Amino acid sequence: MSKPNITFLGLGIMGGGMANRLLGAGFPLTVYNRNPDKAKPLAAAGAKVAASAREAATGADIIMSMVADDGAARAVWLGDNGALAGAKPGAILIECSTISPDWIKELGAAAKKKTCELLDAPVTGTKPHAASGELTFLVGGSAAALEKARPALAVMSKAILHVGPAGSGALVKLLNNFLCAVQAVSFAEALALIEKSGLDRAQTVEILTQGTPGSPLVKTMAARMTTRDYEPKFLMRLMAKDIGYAGEAGKQHGVDFKTAACALEVFKIALAQNLGDKDFSAIIEPLRKQ
Ligand code: NAP
Repeated sequence: MSKPNITFLGLGIMGGGMANRLLGAGFPLTVYNRNPDKAKPLAAAGAKVAASAREAATGADIIMSMVADDGAARAVWLGDNGALAGAKPGAILIECSTISPDWIKELGAAAKKKTCELLDAPVTGTKPHAASGELTFLVGGSAAALEKARPALAVMSKAILHVGPAGSGALVKLLNNFLCAVQAVSFAEALALIEKSGLDRAQTVEILTQGTPGSPLVKTMAARMTTRDYEPKFLMRLMAKDIGYAGEAGKQHGVDFKTAACALEVFKIALAQNLGDKDFSAIIEPLRKQ
């Protein structure tokens, strides 16, 4: 059976690696990125590059997006130059960005009008997992649409988890990042205290990371924060966005996310200190300066 034509929108840290996996697996691939420079390596590897999301989506069987946030997703999907304007009836739309469930509802309604079906399929894993095809997809939407998309998702992932109807993937992903963000902030506060109090840093960090609080996230943060390795894998400004969306989702379901609000305050301080384009592990730096 011939492989479906795939369109990929958004070639940042994650999208670049994901699109590369599709190309490597032999899917006919058309890409679009707002800044056209980021499409150059994929063009050199054989992808078709489009000048707009609409042009990229024209004729595609599957259209995927991996962009920053709700606003960016709205820009690539909707409007005269958006992907939906070019989508053919029956195309499967896959929103992989970490976005709000509200946006999925809006995009799902717009997709229905074009007789397209939408899957929300955000991912866990970061830059190296995107590059090596070891992401985990958290998929919301119909089982039938997922089966059509599965061969494409499979080359980018080690697991594809169907978590419920449309919007469920987005919500599970926000819960995932909410827990990561709160742990990152609490570990940053602990590490700042360790450093300022004169405790033996190496020994204390070892006790904490090898003991009960040593979750995978805490271990990763400990390594990056102690070596000050802030090479971007997941940007501070994107994690701040996710805490905001998680808090909003909590509110809509009558759950007061107080720890999300606290974590967001700390992230806002980091953003005000121009750390938005650093890895989110740089959240320790404002605390070190206090
Ligand atoms: P990134 O490197 O900053 O890439 C962001 C992408 O969004 C770029 O292609 C950017 O285009 C595009 N974009 C931003 N604003 C836009 C707009 N108004 N119109 C059109 N395109 C726009 O971020 P990333 O790390 O790849 O993250 C992408 C998504 O994956 C985010 O939702 C993030 O939360 C999620 N995510 C990230 C990770 C991670 O570890 N990095 C892990 C899981 C999920 P330009 O190049 O033109 O700016």
